[in-house]
Amino acid sequence: SRSPLYAVFGNPVAHSKSPQIHAGFAAQLSDPVRYEPRLAPVDDFPGHWRAFMAEGGRGANVTVPFKQEAAALADRLSDRAQQAGAVNTLILDRNGEVVGDNTDGAGLLLDLKRLEAPLEGARILVLGAGGAVRGVLQPLLEAQPSALVIANRTIDKATALAERFDIQGRVRGCGFEEIKGRFDLVINATSASLAGELPPLPDTLFDEGALAYDMMYGAAPTVFLQWAQTFGVRCVDGLGMLVGQAAESWYQWRGTRPDTTPILAALRADLR
Ligand code: NDP
Repeated sequence: SRSPLYAVFGNPVAHSKSPQIHAGFAAQLSDPVRYEPRLAPVDDFPGHWRAFMAEGGRGANVTVPFKQEAAALADRLSDRAQQAGAVNTLILDRNGEVVGDNTDGAGLLLDLKRLEAPLEGARILVLGAGGAVRGVLQPLLEAQPSALVIANRTIDKATALAERFDIQGRVRGCGFEEIKGRFDLVINATSASLAGELPPLPDTLFDEGALAYDMMYGAAPTVFLQWAQTFGVRCVDGLGMLVGQAAESWYQWRGTRPDTTPILAALRADLR
C-alpha cells in the first residue's frame, strides 16, 4: 500500500513552507508520508477536502483563507480549536470522524521554550487581537506570566479578548497608545508588518533582558523587529513558530515528535 497522504490547503499555497517542513520530519523520523500542497478555489474548500479524503487523505494543514471554513466542516473541534475559533489542522480519526485542531499556540510555546524566553512570572505584551492571538492566549496563560496585556488597533477587540481569557485579573486589554509599564516579552501578532507598518508604540516598552518576537518571518527583519533592535533587546521572528505548529500537527497525525532544530536551521538557510 502507498504511504499515508497529508496536505496543506490554501489559496494561494505555492509559497507554503509546510511541504518542505513535513518532508524534513518524514526523513528525520523514517516515516515516509506524502505531504502535498493543494490549491483549493476560494469558493469550494469543502469539495476539495472531500475529494482529498476520497483519495485516502489522512489529515491536512489549513491556511489562509480556509481556517474558519475548516472549523465549520469538522465533525468536532479540539478545545484549543474551539478557543481559537479557527482550525489549522484537520485530523481523520480512527472512527472516520474529522477533528479540527489548532496547533498555532502550541507551536509558539514550543518556540518560546526553545528560546528560553521569559514566561513564568514575566510581564507579557501581545500586539494584535486577531485569529493568531485567540490561538495563543490560553497556552501563554498556562505558562504563568505575572501579567498579560493585549493591545490592539481596534481597542474593543483587545478588551473583549482580555475579558474572555482573564484569569485572576492578570489579563488586560487596551489600545497601543495606552500601554503602561515595561515588558519581558513582547509578541507582535498584528499583520502590520505585512504592510511594512509599525503600530504607534511607546518607546518605554522593553524591560532589561526583554525578548521581542514577531510572528511574521522573512529574509529581512520586520519593521517591528528593526524598531525593537534600536533598544538593544533580543529579536526573533516567527519562523520557529511555523516549524513548531507543524511539529504539533505532525504529532497529532503520527504520534511522534520531530526534532525541530535541524529543520528550522535548514529553512533559515533557505530564506537567506
Ligand atoms: P488577523 O487578520 O486575524 O488579525 C490581524 C491583526 O493585525 C488585527 O489585530 C489587526 O487589528 C492588526 N492589524 C492589521 N493591520 C494593522 C496595522 N496596519 N496597524 C496595526 N494593527 C494592524 O491575522 P492573524 O491573527 O491570523 O495573523 C496575524 C499575523 O501573525 C500575520 O502576520 C500572520 O502571518 C502571523 N502568523 C504567523 C504564524 C506563524 O506560524 N509564524 C501563525 C499565524 C499567524 P484590527 O483588529 O484593528 O483590525
